[in-house]
Amino acid sequence: MSNDTTYSYLFDIMPVAIAIVVDDKLVKLNPAALQLLDAENEHVVLGHPVKDYVHPLDQPRSQGRLKKQGDNWSNANSKFRIRTSKGNFRMLVVISRAIHYLGKDAVMITGMDMTEHSEMEEQLRLSEFNFRRLFENMQDVYYRTDVYGIIQKISPAVQKVLGFEPEEMEGKPAESFYPQVSDRDAFKHAIETDGMVSDFPGQMVHKDGSIIDISVNSQALYDDDGKFAGVEGICRDVTQRKVMERELQRLATTDSLTGIANRRAFLEHAEHIFKSCQRYQTNMTLLMLDLDYFKSINDKYGHQSGDQALIRFAETVKVELRDSDLFGRLGGEEFCILLQQATRAESMLVAERIRTSIQAILLTSTTGEPFSLTVSIGIATYRTEDDRLGRMLERSDKALYQAKSNGRNQVTWEA
Ligand code: GH3
Ligand code: MG
Ligand code: MG
Repeated sequence: MSNDTTYSYLFDIMPVAIAIVVDDKLVKLNPAALQLLDAENEHVVLGHPVKDYVHPLDQPRSQGRLKKQGDNWSNANSKFRIRTSKGNFRMLVVISRAIHYLGKDAVMITGMDMTEHSEMEEQLRLSEFNFRRLFENMQDVYYRTDVYGIIQKISPAVQKVLGFEPEEMEGKPAESFYPQVSDRDAFKHAIETDGMVSDFPGQMVHKDGSIIDISVNSQALYDDDGKFAGVEGICRDVTQRKVMERELQRLATTDSLTGIANRRAFLEHAEHIFKSCQRYQTNMTLLMLDLDYFKSINDKYGHQSGDQALIRFAETVKVELRDSDLFGRLGGEEFCILLQQATRAESMLVAERIRTSIQAILLTSTTGEPFSLTVSIGIATYRTEDDRLGRMLERSDKALYQAKSNGRNQVTWEA
């Protein structure tokens, strides 16, 4: 094989696109170059100026590179967008150098198609950019720990949530920011069994020492061999939400005038205790209380004075009760007390104490007139045949009715 035939053979099989340019026009292209330009044969492209195939934005740069004078120069590799004969855009990495071709000054351009690579790069760049933007700006805290639970990365939002700068936390064990190590154990267990947690409740310690309620969404990370490699997730500060939930719960269960349990909360709780009495055959007593002639107090001293009387009444009763007793406003000027594990004698004693202390309250109306209150109380105690709380409520109600008809301001035991 002569040298010329060898060069020609190499030119044809070279996987890199090669084009030779004389006076700015394409004069020779190898099959790889034709393929790159979507040209079915040489004739489609031969004689065309190079710029016909260069993206408009890259044309000035391309022209500059081709117009160099003299011998032996070369251009370092650079990216160019080209437009093929079928109108497709491709991204090439191009190197060019001055040569002599058939006795003329020429430029040899070699190009490699990087279109897919650059699309991937662009996607990577975009996703990196999006991640950065999220990482820097989101309110929630992004974090990643390694296989030992050491914090590797934590987003700047942590400063607002926990008061620490990310650098103060990175490199430290995540559990050193938990108030209870048991929290971390429950979390670890969930990650180990399910590979992820969502809306997982927990607490963390703020730099100032206060406890922050958080909710965590995390997933386990695995290495190429499928081995556990750490955890990545998002923490949300739910302290405000918890405070609001507790406040809503309080509002839903307390009576707004007196601050004691409302009807629903009292009955729900009483139902619970009743069930436990049934199961363990322990004792409980219900006291039904109703203020005497309350309508006439309102009539004589005004509704506002009536409200004050109800508030003082509740305060006074509370003083006579233990922590384990329940006290609720069933409605209007009707109240109920549940005494846990109280004998008949003890229950009577409590009721009597309440009756006398209510009687002793000295009230002043909005117009400055002094007035007082009395209360009637009916009592019922748990019986083994009681199949529901309602039975006890009925009996205590009947006893109350009896106290009323016996003349009020008295305590009556069920029949
Ligand atoms: P009795 O001794 O038979 O219980 O007589 P009473 O007047 O207390 O009974 P009644 O049930 O006829 O009247 C209850 C009154 O309680 C009627 C209502 O105006 C008053 N009342 C109910 N809820 C409130 C309240 O929240 N504030 C005030 N000020 N009054 C209330
Ligand atoms: Mg009444
Ligand atoms: Mg009443």
